[in-house]
Amino acid sequence: MWHLLLDLLAPAGCWACDGHVPGAHPLCAGCAAELPWLDPGQDGGPGAALGRWWAPLDFAGPARDLVHALKFSAAAGIAPYLASQMALRRPQGLFAPGVTLVPVPAHPLRRRRRGFDHADALAVALGVRLGLPVARVLRRDARPGARQRGLGRGSRLAGAALGVRAAGLAPQRCVLIDDVRTTGATLEACAVVLRATGALRVDAATFARVP
Ligand SMILES: [Zn+2]
Repeated sequence: MWHLLLDLLAPAGCWACDGHVPGAHPLCAGCAAELPWLDPGQDGGPGAALGRWWAPLDFAGPARDLVHALKFSAAAGIAPYLASQMALRRPQGLFAPGVTLVPVPAHPLRRRRRGFDHADALAVALGVRLGLPVARVLRRDARPGARQRGLGRGSRLAGAALGVRAAGLAPQRCVLIDDVRTTGATLEACAVVLRATGALRVDAATFARVP
């Protein structure tokens, strides 16, 4: 609720330079032209459990400002914009029919502080855009290591380090959604948990990646 209110109260302006922007666009033309796009088709190599992962942008310049707007400023209206940019540049086959989008769960303390789960908002906006379902099958515990029963030892360890666990069966074909990929450890841990609970294939897409 708060993010909706803040959206209404926030003056329209560029999220990167604070300059004037006509309409509801989150970046002015100058900052939009400086977005650090990556070469199309540049995918990350597979991890042990994770298949391909993809991000359209480097986490730098105006792309970083947009992620911060999504994450810290409770600017829920940003998610549809980020989703539209990802949808426009998506690589072939990643979001194929039959795929289910799975948001990477935020740490519960952070979600409570922000009152908003940024990866969830991004996944929902992408789902609307691409006509794909969203399944919130991952949970994150405030205390890592809690409630990891029912998984194999390896999966338990990978998920436990980050407090990630499954809440039900995973869809067969998942694409994890998050705002930024840093080391990839979170995505890999989520993929391990999904694979252990029914997913046959897990890929990942983030708005930006740390270079
Ligand atoms: Zn600007």
